[in-house]
Amino acid sequence: MKINDNLIRDSLKKIFGFDEFKGLQKEVISNIFENKNTFVIMPTGGGKSLCYQLPALMKEGTAVVVSPLIALMKNQVDHIRGFSNINGIAHVLNSSLTKDEQKKVKDDVNKGITKLLYMAPESLSKESNIEFLKSNNISLLAIDEVHCISEWGHDFRPEYRNLRLLADKIDKNIPIIALTATATPKVQSDILKNLNIPDAKIYKASFNRPNLFYEVRYKRDSVDSDLIKFIKNNSSKSGIIYCLSRKRVEEVTNLLQLNSIKALAYHAGLDSKTRSNNQDLFLKEDVDVIVATIAFGMGIDKPNIRFVIHYDVPKSLESYYQETGRAGRDGGEGHCLVFYSYKDIERLERFITSKTNSEQQLSSLLLEEMVSYCETSISRRKYLLNYFGEEFDNNTGDGGMLDDNMANPKEKIDVKKEIIILLNLIDKTKQIYKSKELIDILIGNESSVIKSHKLNEKSFFGIGKNYDKTFWTGLIRQLIVARFIEKNIESYGIILINEKGNKFLSSPKTFQISLDHEYSDDDKILTHIKGGMSADLELMSILKKLRKQISNKLNLPPYIIFQDPSLEDMTLKYPITISEIANIHGVGEGKANKYGKEFVDVISKYVEENNISRIDDFVVKTAGSNSALKLYIIQSIDRKLSFEDIISFKGLKMDEFVKEMESIIYSGTKLDISYCTDDVLDEDQQTEINDYFMEAESDDIKLAMDEFDGEYEEFELRIYRIKFLSEFAN
Ligand code: ADP
Ligand code: MG
Repeated sequence: MKINDNLIRDSLKKIFGFDEFKGLQKEVISNIFENKNTFVIMPTGGGKSLCYQLPALMKEGTAVVVSPLIALMKNQVDHIRGFSNINGIAHVLNSSLTKDEQKKVKDDVNKGITKLLYMAPESLSKESNIEFLKSNNISLLAIDEVHCISEWGHDFRPEYRNLRLLADKIDKNIPIIALTATATPKVQSDILKNLNIPDAKIYKASFNRPNLFYEVRYKRDSVDSDLIKFIKNNSSKSGIIYCLSRKRVEEVTNLLQLNSIKALAYHAGLDSKTRSNNQDLFLKEDVDVIVATIAFGMGIDKPNIRFVIHYDVPKSLESYYQETGRAGRDGGEGHCLVFYSYKDIERLERFITSKTNSEQQLSSLLLEEMVSYCETSISRRKYLLNYFGEEFDNNTGDGGMLDDNMANPKEKIDVKKEIIILLNLIDKTKQIYKSKELIDILIGNESSVIKSHKLNEKSFFGIGKNYDKTFWTGLIRQLIVARFIEKNIESYGIILINEKGNKFLSSPKTFQISLDHEYSDDDKILTHIKGGMSADLELMSILKKLRKQISNKLNLPPYIIFQDPSLEDMTLKYPITISEIANIHGVGEGKANKYGKEFVDVISKYVEENNISRIDDFVVKTAGSNSALKLYIIQSIDRKLSFEDIISFKGLKMDEFVKEMESIIYSGTKLDISYCTDDVLDEDQQTEINDYFMEAESDDIKLAMDEFDGEYEEFELRIYRIKFLSEFAN
C-alpha cells in the first residue's frame, strides 16, 4: 500500500506533535507502508524509534518490537502511552510479568487495542508466545539495536541470531524493519544475511557529528593530574568518564572527589538503588561528572553532556563511537578525549587470550582499529567515518569542529616511492598477508611466520629497511583510509589491493602523508628537571614577608597561614589562580579561599614582572591507596561519629587513625573534631595548649612535648593540634 504523504505528515503532527520529519524518517516510513523490508542506520538521537512507531500506530494489527534491554522497553512504552489515553496501546511482554499481567497484555493484543508490543528476543523464542502471536494480526517486526546480531559489532547477543527463524514461525511475509546506530560495512552485511532480507532498502544517515571535537592524549604517568586539570578547566560542565574496570571507576571517582570535583560512580557492582540514585543526581545536575564502566549510558538522553573522557582505551571503535555519541546531543560543544597508552592495549590483549581462537582474532582486530585511530595523524573524524564506510572530505569546511590532528597538523612527506614498494609487495606475495607480516617483510624481521613461509629468502625481504615499523604501519593505515588497499575482515585482516591502488600502480602520482604519532613517556624529562629544580629564593622571601604581614594582621602564627613546604611549592609552580593554589602541597580548597587571594596576586605580579614561564602543570591531590579510607574518615567526622566507632569499623589502630587525620589536615581539608577533643582534654587544658600553638614558631610536636615537659601525652597534643590547625589553618 502506498501511503499518502499528507496523511503521514498529519499523523506526525497529531500523534507526536512534530511539524517536520527528521532526516530520512519520511522515506523510511513510506517504505514500511509498502510492506517492504527496511534497514535504518542512523546515529543515536537520529529519531529511529519514530520510524516504526508511527506506522505501527497507523496500521492495522500489532507491531512486535524486539529490543535488548528491559529498561529501554519500559521507557518506550511509557513514552507511547503518553500520546494516548489508552494504556493498552503499548505493552512489554516478558517473563517478569505476573500471570495476571501477562493475561492482560494478551487480552489487549487479542482485542486489537495494542499497537506496539515490546519483547526481548528471549521471550520471543518461547513456543507459547509464538503460538499467541501467530493467532494475531502482526503488522511488522521491528528489531532495534540490530547490530547485536553480528559478532563483528560491539554488543553481540547470540539470541538475536534466531530472529529470522522466529519471524518465519509467526508469518513468513512479515515486513522487517531493522534499526541500529552503528554498523560497519561488515556488520551491515552480517545483518542483512542473518535476517535474510537481501532486498531490504537501506537508509543510512551520515555518522558525522560536526559538533564533537576528537582528541587523543598520551596516557602519561601523570594522567591523573591531566585529568583533573581538564575537568577543572571545564568546571561545572556535565561529563562522563569511562573506565574499563569497576576498580578503576572507584579509584577515579575517589581522585575526583578528593580534588573537590562533584563526581559519582556508576558500575554494575553497585546495588541498583545506588546506581539509579547516582544516575538521577547526574541527570538532575547535582553532580557534574559520572565515572562509569560501559554499563552506563544506553538510553541516557542528557542533552548537555559537554565531555566524554576515556580514561582507558575502549575495546573497539564501535563502542568508542557509541560512548562519545552521548556528548553534545543538544548540538552544543562536546569534547571527546581518550587517554591512550600501548600498555593499556597490552593489558586488553591479555584478556583476549582467555577467549576461543576465532573470538581472539576478532577481538584483536577490533582492538587494532582502536590503536590505529589513536596513533593516526590524519583527521580523527575522517578515520572514524571511514571505519563506518563513509567517505569524509575534511577540506569541505562544513563549519564543524575539527580534531587535535587537524588543529595541529604534522609535517607531510611524499611517499610515492614507498607506496609503489608496498603495493608491489602485496601483489608479489599474492595478497595473502596481514599488515603485521607485510611489515616484517619490509623491515626484514625474521619472525616465525616469515621463516616458515621462507619469505626471508626472497629478493624483496627487507626492501623497506630504510624506514621503521612505525612508518610502514602508518602508511598502511593511511592507504586503507585512502582506499588504495583494504583489510579483509572475513579473513581476519588480510590486506588486498583495491581498484584505486591498481590505478595508482599503473600511473603513480605524488602522495603525501604525515607520520603516525609515537607516544612515549616524554614527560620523564620534565620530572627530571623538576627534581633538580630549586626554589625561587627571591619569590620565597617575598612570600614569607606577605605571610608575616597577614599573620600580624590576623594575630595568628605564620605557619597557620601556610607552612614552609607550601611556600616552597608555590615558588616552584607559581600558582596564579585560586584553583591552582588549592592544588599546592598542603593547601586545600578552604585555605585557598581564606588566604589564597593575596598570594596569587603577589605571585601573578612577580610572574609578569620577571617574565616567568610557569610549568603548565597542576599539583593534584593523589588518591593514594588510602584515599577511600580518607574519604570515610572525612565523612564520619562530618557525621560526628565517635573515634572509637570509626577505628573499630575500619579495624584501625588509634595511631594509624591519628596519622590519617593529620595527613588529611595537611593536605588542606578541614576536620572539625571539636566534638571529640572535649572527651580528651578539659577546658583549661585546651586553653593552655591553644595558647602554646598560637605563640609557637612551628607546630612541631617534639617542641610542644619539650615545652610541656611531660604534662601531656603525645596523643593529646596531636589531637589538639588537629583541632587547632583545622580551626585556623584550613
Ligand atoms: P534514536 O533511537 O535514533 O537514538 P530516538 O528515536 O530516541 O533516537 O529519538 C531521539 C529524539 O529525537 C527523541 O527525543 C525524539 O522525540 C526526537 N525526534 C524524533 N523524531 C523527531 C522529529 N521528526 N522532530 C523532532 N524531534 C524528533
Ligand atoms: Mg533508539
